[in-house]
Amino acid sequence: MKITLRYLSAIALLAHVSLGQESIVLHAGSLIDGKGGTQRNAYVVVKGSKVEKVGGRETGKLIDLKHYTLLPGMIDTHVHIGWHFGPDGRYQPRDTSQTTALGYAMENAYETLMGGFTTVQSVGAPIDGELRSAINRGVLPGPRVLTSLGAINNPSMTVEQIRAAIQKFAEQGADLVKIFASKSFRDGGGQTLSKEQIDAACGEAKAQHLRAIVHVYGPETIKEVSEAGCTSVEHGTLITPEVLKFLAERGTYFDPNIGLVAQNYLAHRTNYLGIGNYTEEGMAAMQRSIPISLKVFQEALKTPNLKIVYGTDAVAGAHGHNVEELIYRVQKGGQDPKDAITSVTSLSAESLNMGDKIGSLAPGMEADLIAVDGDPLKDITAMRRVVFVMKGGKIFKGPATNEN
Ligand SMILES: [Zn+2]
Repeated sequence: MKITLRYLSAIALLAHVSLGQESIVLHAGSLIDGKGGTQRNAYVVVKGSKVEKVGGRETGKLIDLKHYTLLPGMIDTHVHIGWHFGPDGRYQPRDTSQTTALGYAMENAYETLMGGFTTVQSVGAPIDGELRSAINRGVLPGPRVLTSLGAINNPSMTVEQIRAAIQKFAEQGADLVKIFASKSFRDGGGQTLSKEQIDAACGEAKAQHLRAIVHVYGPETIKEVSEAGCTSVEHGTLITPEVLKFLAERGTYFDPNIGLVAQNYLAHRTNYLGIGNYTEEGMAAMQRSIPISLKVFQEALKTPNLKIVYGTDAVAGAHGHNVEELIYRVQKGGQDPKDAITSVTSLSAESLNMGDKIGSLAPGMEADLIAVDGDPLKDITAMRRVVFVMKGGKIFKGPATNEN
């Protein structure tokens, strides 16, 4: 007997499909494991929240994905999950109501998950903590959320104040620390925190067992950030080949955001212009940053052993489109598709200290799995066509055709 459940996604909108402890078998036309391995006609056994087995023919409760490519769920290490446009379509930087803010954050989380991202790192606002709890309760659909809950961005803070602020973030349940060590690209990217402040911030983060990810542009500041033991360099648009090598030698992760954030601002310029510090000059600077970022990325690809992770800097208008950065990195940046997929899965998981849990498709890993329509190794745009999403063994998006 063959039971066909078409358009399961419609049902999954209302309530995800819980598979409990019963094992199910995903039959994939092809499989990319997130660490460079591929298989054809693979069977993946999922039990509870985890992958139990990967290999040849299995029987049991089968989910038919044989026309699709199965991969680990994608990971975005740099998003602003709460940013949104308001009812008038304009960017709404401050919400009068936290309830409203949480509603928008949930929408963003839903779009992100449906786009194939099962984990995001939000850098970060207090509302992220509420979002994380809501998703972790297990009913509402959304990616795993890691958050900094806020940021260290005030250059007038003393070293003691910086340490105290980080201790407070840790107490409040932050998963990481976000630090601003530079002005934005538009304002020249000059260093804002002193070496002592950077050392204190990254040192205190380490003392609290938290990763430190740093918004930073210029080469000298980037070097200081790496020397201070921070985990990753975000943006880095003004980096030099020498400093790229320096990061590679020190094992500091590099997260250039080259394919989504500036393009998204330009595509939504009227939604942003005139609000906060979004001006025509700012938009012109974004435009200018695009070819510079692309060149930096191409230089980064040539740097041996550099760990290039996947972050988009997704803001209002970009949630759910996180994969565009990946397509851009391959199509415009020239990254090998398999390396790009490794970056958005296992390498990003490693950078989050979660490499033993998520980011690869292997026995014992969390069953965070997606299927896409097509072969992304031949056509990276297949990554846009996400037809199946499972997080922690639960299906959030179909189609799921059971074959018995
Ligand atoms: Zn950002």
